Amino acid sequence: MKLHTRLFIALALGALLGTWCHGGVAGGWVDPINTHLFRPAGQLFLRAVLMVVVPMVVSALILGVHELGAARELRSVALRTLGFTLLLSTSSVVIGVALVNLIAPGHGVVLRDTVPADQVQQIAQSARGATSFSQTLVELVPRNPLASAVRALDGEMLPLMVFALIFGLALSAGHRQGDEGGVIVQACEQVFAACMRIVHVVMRASPVAVFALVFGTAYTSGPSVFGSLLLYVVTVVAGLCLQQFGVYAACLRLLAHRSPLSFFRGSRDVLLYAFSTASSNATLPLSLDAATARLALPPDIARFTLTIGATANQNGTALFEGVTVLFLAQVYGLDLTVMDQVRVMVMSVVAGIGTAGVPGGSLPMVLIVAQSVGVPADGLGLILGVDRLLDMCRTAVNVSGDLVIAALVSPRQVTAA
Ligand code: ASP
Repeated sequence: MKLHTRLFIALALGALLGTWCHGGVAGGWVDPINTHLFRPAGQLFLRAVLMVVVPMVVSALILGVHELGAARELRSVALRTLGFTLLLSTSSVVIGVALVNLIAPGHGVVLRDTVPADQVQQIAQSARGATSFSQTLVELVPRNPLASAVRALDGEMLPLMVFALIFGLALSAGHRQGDEGGVIVQACEQVFAACMRIVHVVMRASPVAVFALVFGTAYTSGPSVFGSLLLYVVTVVAGLCLQQFGVYAACLRLLAHRSPLSFFRGSRDVLLYAFSTASSNATLPLSLDAATARLALPPDIARFTLTIGATANQNGTALFEGVTVLFLAQVYGLDLTVMDQVRVMVMSVVAGIGTAGVPGGSLPMVLIVAQSVGVPADGLGLILGVDRLLDMCRTAVNVSGDLVIAALVSPRQVTAA
């Protein structure tokens, strides 16, 4: 049975059993089982994912930026690719954050009981005690990246990401053309690959963890949370549709001077494939083929932007991360300030660059963005059960974004062919 099917079953079972026990039908033995067995099981899983986040993010960002910077002959294409990546990810996150504030899928349920009351208070306090805008900007540049790495899970991830971006750029500037990238790049590649392997193994235990976490949620909060979950799914999908058919279509029409309809028609198969595999990386061969065969994009530009984009341009994922963290904040009854929401947006955009283009690649990043504004990691259990569907949708938007950027950075006379 596929992992996503098992996850869905775990979600349903956890929800049903937890709700049933919430009514008090099962008797007093449920409490100790939840506290001493299910809660630690869920925590163990979350900690195992969190454990690899710092090395994974740092190595992924260094590699992504290094690749962009190392392509000298395509320097202006690389710069414009980076610019559009940031622009489209930002528009995507802004749409998501606007929708989640408007629809407020997580309001009405408060999961305070799943974390101890004093912890909730502390979380709410740290979420409120946000620094001023100017100070936040100053703190983006770490004084000591190693200290930021140590405190990455306590809200210092963003300065660490900034360091990795600058370091990756500097590394690429020091390399000669045709150079493989040297020992640091190779080390980063191996660190990243090892982290991905660990996540892969840990994910095998995810159905058990999802059952344990969702059971705990339903047991302490009752069934109302699942209506919110449905509304959350609707919010993410609505945001992705706006990005795909609003922002991308406008960019194609106004900036690339192409017909959005024929562009989407030409990339139909690719998007369907991305949707069914939920992996930008696995879709890369198809998008490369479609880019040159059906969308008339110059092969060298298509190869460059699509290869980089499969890992570094994840507009749909950025939207998903923003919506998810704000949804969980609503569910946990945390009132995030505007500055906190801006922090979530910036982190989601940067996290999009560091997300692996594989199914569920963004899940460790969601934890990081969540923790940066004090949202408890337990919330992941809630969304994992519906993640496959959202993963399929956001991957289609990610891949579509790569193709749109390839069209945007291509010379006009070729794109108009
Ligand atoms: N599955 C996504 C992709 O491959 C990444 C993610 O959002 O998990 O693009």
